[in-house]
Amino acid sequence: MADALPEAFLRAVAEGFPADFLTLEPSELEEYGRDWTRVYSPAPSAVAFPRTTDEVARLVKLCHAHRVSVVPSGGRTGLAAGAVAARGELVLSLQRMNKLGPVDLLGNTVRVQAGAVTEAVHHHCAEHGLTWPVDFASKGSSQVGGNIATNAGGVKVIRYGLTRQWVLGLQVVTAQGEVLELNGALEKNNTGVDLRQLFIGSEGTLGIITEATLKLAPLPGRQDVFLFAVPDMAGVLSLFREARRAPLILSAYEFFTDKCLERVRRHRKLRSPFDAPSSHYVLMEAESKEASEVEAWLGSLFERGLVTDGTLAQSPSQASELWALRESISESLSATGLPHKNDVSLPVAALESFCSELEAVFGARYPGWEINLFGHIGDGNLHINVMKPEDMEKAEFLAHTKAADHAMFELVSKHRGSISAEHGIGLLKKDYLSYSRSLAELELLRTLKRAMDPLNILNPGKVLDV
Ligand SMILES: Cc1cc2nc3c(=O)[nH]c(=O)nc-3n(C[C@H](O)[C@H](O)[C@H](O)COP(=O)(O)OP(=O)(O)OC[C@H]3O[C@@H](n4cnc5c(N)ncnc54)[C@H](O)[C@@H]3O)c2cc1C
Repeated sequence: MADALPEAFLRAVAEGFPADFLTLEPSELEEYGRDWTRVYSPAPSAVAFPRTTDEVARLVKLCHAHRVSVVPSGGRTGLAAGAVAARGELVLSLQRMNKLGPVDLLGNTVRVQAGAVTEAVHHHCAEHGLTWPVDFASKGSSQVGGNIATNAGGVKVIRYGLTRQWVLGLQVVTAQGEVLELNGALEKNNTGVDLRQLFIGSEGTLGIITEATLKLAPLPGRQDVFLFAVPDMAGVLSLFREARRAPLILSAYEFFTDKCLERVRRHRKLRSPFDAPSSHYVLMEAESKEASEVEAWLGSLFERGLVTDGTLAQSPSQASELWALRESISESLSATGLPHKNDVSLPVAALESFCSELEAVFGARYPGWEINLFGHIGDGNLHINVMKPEDMEKAEFLAHTKAADHAMFELVSKHRGSISAEHGIGLLKKDYLSYSRSLAELELLRTLKRAMDPLNILNPGKVLDV
């Protein structure tokens, strides 16, 4: 059961905000208290829906005065339980703050409210031949504030980099309810420590992002979408080496295994892309100048035995069909079973040895279990999903995977990788943070949190305990 909010707090909200500002409705508490992780039971005390930065600031001031914990909440597509409210917190949903400002065609920027849906920003800017190049399967639900708070990655990182690179300015409400305007729309601003960067990737623990000035890129030219079959992980990486030397600008280099494909086909009722099955597949998107050059390159891949099968989409609808195979994986795994998800990154050069050592760990820990691997492999990012065996209880499964994660993170650490490539830490990976951050770093992070949020009201218990 969620803790009740202080009477005086509820009275102040009723007096100072619109009637539809706060809900205590059980079905809404259930919905807004969870994210995509589905591991924790939601138990918020209330959900607030501000429309303006002023409302956010006044609410946070009240929360600060009454020591009410706040969970900032975007599209709740997060995969690390960062937006989960499981301990009676107040959920502050940004969903009504979804205004999109005019596109600045001289500066190539747009200022939006934090609750703007990622894909809505894409549509808004596409009319002007521009895009905000933060792109992944959940873009139809995720919000700009959530993307920034998680410093989201995605399928286009190989070309454009992370969300961090595409945020010029931030408006943030602090734990004390002060409004900060950080960096405006400036590309260059060398006036000391860039405070904006503190909030990017902070998962709602240091401040609430209410508006952002986004940097835009020109929409890319004609994109070719390829799907290749390769025999193994070594084949995925050899093809990557070739693709980097090809007459193309790579904008995505993704991989998945046959087990992922099988779940996608089952869930989405799709046909197999090739006649003969393969154990590994690569989905590649690239911009090229000369179609003839691309065809010659493609032919040479077969001649040199670098791929066992392959196809180049001949139309936008074929391209979408190929992308659907990759982008439906997360959704299909959750729809057809209970995945235990991990999202690690390694130096690309370490991927092959990491994967073979991982096989040995999994062989010992999960004999006969189904393991699904996919990810943004061109960035060294591997999504590792262990599926719950049908005949195992959920609690037993979670205990087992938690123990096995330590063995896997030892390996990640040995290869100087990261235990969270792009999903963040939230509640889910908090116990493992020391595999990727030194004790000195953790202490510095705690000092920062204590200085910025001394009462620990902003997303308490997420990322690290103070
Ligand atoms: C099918 C699927 C595919 C995905 N693919 C990718 C991928 O390729 N790459 C990737 O990086 N992620 C991916 N994700 C994860 C997720 O979509 C991203 O992390 C996304 O950026 C989260 O945005 P959101 O608005 O849903 O945030 P939420 O889940 O609502 O919140 C995420 C975190 O940000 C905080 N937060 C939210 N809004 C604010 C705000 N305004 N101010 C301060 N803090 C805030 C929350 O408290 C929480 O800690 C995927 C998820 C799904 C379901």
